[in-house]
Amino acid sequence: MSDCIFCKIINGEFNTEFVYEDEYSVVFNDINPKADTHLLVVPKQHTASLNECNDEQLLGKLMMTVKTATKKLGINSYRTVINTGKEAGQEVFHLHIHILSGEIKL
Ligand code: 5GP
Ligand code: ZN
Repeated sequence: MSDCIFCKIINGEFNTEFVYEDEYSVVFNDINPKADTHLLVVPKQHTASLNECNDEQLLGKLMMTVKTATKKLGINSYRTVINTGKEAGQEVFHLHIHILSGEIKL
């Protein structure tokens, strides 16, 4: 989607460093970290939120990416968060999974 900040990041428009990438997703540091380590797992395919996503295979792949990326990065203990909808705190309407580790300020 042309006006979606995460689609722009995925397309390389901001030269964001991907700490992990696979066929389905990219993983990068949150710009406003709420923990010592705060990563975002973002599917390459645009979907506004979990409510709009009916792709079971993609959802499974994203959870596997959480496991694979954290393992590769040496993160053993972490919290995962998916904000769905404005009232729940979703600010970017491109589905993503937060990974928070270390001291968490949430
Ligand atoms: P949400 O509140 O939608 O679950 O989470 C969106 C997250 O994206 C926030 O934690 C926010 O700090 C992060 N974010 C928003 N814009 C950018 C950006 O341009 N770059 C990066 N790396 N993170 C962003
Ligand atoms: Zn998008």
